[in-house]
Amino acid sequence: MAHIAVIGAGITGITTAFQLFQQGFEVTVIDRQRYAGMETSFANGGQLSASNAEVWTSWGTVLKGMKWMLRRDAPLLISPKPSWHKISWMAEFLANIPNYKSHTVQTAAMAIAARRVHQEMASAAGVDFDFSPAGILHFYETDKELEQAARVTALLAQGGLERKAVSPEELRAIEPALCGDYVGGYLTQSDATGDIHKYTFGLAAWLERKGVTFDYGAAVRAVRDTGTSVEIETNRTQRFDGVVVSAGVGSRALAGQLGDRVNVYPVKGYSITVQLNDAASRAAAPQVSLLDDNAKIVTSRLGPDRFRVAGTAEFSGDNRDIKADRIAPLTGWVERHFPGVSTEDVVPWAGLRPMMPSMMPRVGRGRSGRVFYNTGHGHLGWTLSAATAEIVATQVAGVYRRSSPVQIGGLKAS
Ligand SMILES: Cc1cc2nc3c(=O)[nH]c(=O)nc-3n(C[C@H](O)[C@H](O)[C@H](O)COP(=O)(O)OP(=O)(O)OC[C@H]3O[C@@H](n4cnc5c(N)ncnc54)[C@H](O)[C@@H]3O)c2cc1C
Repeated sequence: MAHIAVIGAGITGITTAFQLFQQGFEVTVIDRQRYAGMETSFANGGQLSASNAEVWTSWGTVLKGMKWMLRRDAPLLISPKPSWHKISWMAEFLANIPNYKSHTVQTAAMAIAARRVHQEMASAAGVDFDFSPAGILHFYETDKELEQAARVTALLAQGGLERKAVSPEELRAIEPALCGDYVGGYLTQSDATGDIHKYTFGLAAWLERKGVTFDYGAAVRAVRDTGTSVEIETNRTQRFDGVVVSAGVGSRALAGQLGDRVNVYPVKGYSITVQLNDAASRAAAPQVSLLDDNAKIVTSRLGPDRFRVAGTAEFSGDNRDIKADRIAPLTGWVERHFPGVSTEDVVPWAGLRPMMPSMMPRVGRGRSGRVFYNTGHGHLGWTLSAATAEIVATQVAGVYRRSSPVQIGGLKAS
């Protein structure tokens, strides 16, 4: 049986490990952290959102971004400090504008494909991750935004996603807790939410019980293809038959060592988790997941007593500092839209989205036949990871002619 290493124990690495295990491989997961899901897969927006599949590579986003650069509390911040990585990434981002439509359609289709796989893995492993199938509601304050949303809806439909236009009255009925005047919205009933950390951590713990090896607290210093195996150096050197790189924002450096270019940029985002400690706050917080397209804010109700609010895109390199002036707009947004929710107890967080300039994840083989990637999922890693994990594991199985797939409950490897 071939022995495959997975570098990274975030959502992409753990779902990859699950799929490889299911294919019958011996699997070792290596991560520099002490536990699974401690970096970007820790406190994200929580949305499993095919309805958020629109890629950012459009002139509309670029123009909006230029306007936002003048505002300190804007959803986008680009640090003026120049770096070759940032400049080359942005040039490639612009070069991808012609692919806006096709990439949006492909992303929507991938997000839909991921739903089944996510659910299958969670139920096989019995993971409780505060899953809520209550749908995702996009809402708009101006007719112009609503017209743009209609254009995006048509593109998402090409990817197979149905979302329903809702009137201001319907919007109020769907989420009575939301305050403000809106011209309308779109409801995607088939979208869902859940806690990415609980899912990742729970799946990893289950895999460990099943015999997958976890090498935590092990930063990969070097990785090389020797011609007959893959050699991975942490505080020791181990040899594997193959490797899948799922190292989030660390993937670019590792790919460089393996002779591949995977131009992931760390696009920072922030979240707050509002602790709904009293009954009045629990009643005043929304049940339905929301997406405010104008403010670029997403929300999820995680169980009865947590309300997650996430947003902002900051280009400031590999920097995880939690800045007060980026957290304040998120808290302010909660106070404006849900005045009955207490913001006395709010937990701030920042994470780095591993984003490709094309906005499409890098999935598949590298230059070497022993090296694979499942990384670069940007703003949608939680949504897409299950689908790409299944794709990459099937490719690995195709190369190594697996022994025999493992039967997990009702699941069987394809
Ligand atoms: C504010 C915010 C909100 C978001 N909201 C959503 C949302 O609502 N829905 C959605 O679908 N997506 C969302 N995302 C995106 C999603 O969270 C990410 O795409 C996803 O978590 C990335 O997972 P990953 O496994 O690729 O990376 P990570 O979770 O960062 O995992 C990578 C792992 O690799 C390890 N690693 C890296 N380098 C090395 C090395 N050299 N040696 C050993 N280990 C290494 C790290 O320790 C880490 O554990 C959001 C992101 C942010 C920041």
